[in-house]
Amino acid sequence: MSSRQGVLLRRPEGRPREGDIGFVEVPVPEPGPGQLVVRNTWMSLDPSMRIRMSGGSDDYLPPFAIGEPLSGWAVGTVVASRSTAFAEGDQVMHGSGWRDHALLDEAGPGPETMRPELLPAGEPARWYLGPLGWVGLTSWVGLHDVASLALGDRVFVSGAAGAVGGLVVQIAARLGHEVIGSAGTAEKVAHVRALGASAAFCYRDGPVGSLLAEAAPDGIDVYFDNVGGDHLVAALDALRPGGRVALCGAISTYDAADPVPGPPNLFNAVARGLTLRGFMARMYPHRLGKFRERMREWLVEGSVTYPETIYNGLDAAPGAFADLLAGGNVGKVLVEL
Ligand code: NDP
Repeated sequence: MSSRQGVLLRRPEGRPREGDIGFVEVPVPEPGPGQLVVRNTWMSLDPSMRIRMSGGSDDYLPPFAIGEPLSGWAVGTVVASRSTAFAEGDQVMHGSGWRDHALLDEAGPGPETMRPELLPAGEPARWYLGPLGWVGLTSWVGLHDVASLALGDRVFVSGAAGAVGGLVVQIAARLGHEVIGSAGTAEKVAHVRALGASAAFCYRDGPVGSLLAEAAPDGIDVYFDNVGGDHLVAALDALRPGGRVALCGAISTYDAADPVPGPPNLFNAVARGLTLRGFMARMYPHRLGKFRERMREWLVEGSVTYPETIYNGLDAAPGAFADLLAGGNVGKVLVEL
């Protein structure tokens, strides 16, 4: 029996297009000692994959190699195991997406956070690719550990209709904060309001600085940055003294053909004593357990919603990925395999 894998054929220039990603057929792997084979059922598509498709340093995440299978978070069912930790039928989360079958070492490929994780039965496994996984943790630690969210803070979040941004809106609003969100269409803006934002705007309607000033005439205290570029420039002007920025991502730069100019007003960080702090959720694995307890309660009671944009089959993944970068999604992008 054979299995398929997505492979990087060449490094995309600008937005990924046909011919950048291909597929190969390989035999379904056999597990060796301490190994397991998982039939993937869902895989996550993440903007960071675009960074990894370009060459460059692996300061952030290691670049994908040309001719090698792509990877990313996935969940699936164990179909063969020679590991004492995993049995056939178990649901597992792991980092070998972009393929129908994954051969995994029980000890994982490197850091502890990359070890295959046994998922509890009775919950949708794909929640672990979203609110109960790294996406959820990103929103949580970005607000709390990185931006030091405090009573009365007014929060601005970009990419607010996306997977991370949509959770940031809901968590901050649920904790009683005034939230302002930006997104790329009028429909998404309505969605962001429905998630609990007190104000939201479409960043295509004018200069982000003016739109933000209109939404928050007397400023913001926290900026959760998913976008970078003009959004970060605007937020730096809107931040009140002592404001904090959680630098989560800069999607406006990921497939830009030319370098996106950096904020010309970075000196505001000095003059207003602002804190700008970059982070990756995987720097906070110790926060995952408690966070999940809380988020699970919210999901089960329905007070946090979790929109998904779902595509079917591995063949749909390259197009789905280009759609994600172009803003074709609301909430988390998943591919059902
Ligand atoms: P999203 O679900 O938010 O999808 C990406 C969205 O970005 C698109 O839907 C689009 O929405 C928006 N977008 C694309 N281009 C632009 C642009 N030029 N200007 C403004 N918005 C744009 O993805 P995720 O929630 O998975 O990721 C959001 C951000 O968080 C990314 O920057 C990602 O790299 C980062 N991230 C960081 C992590 C960390 O540990 N630090 C972990 C996970 C994600 P629209 O229609 O609104 O334009």
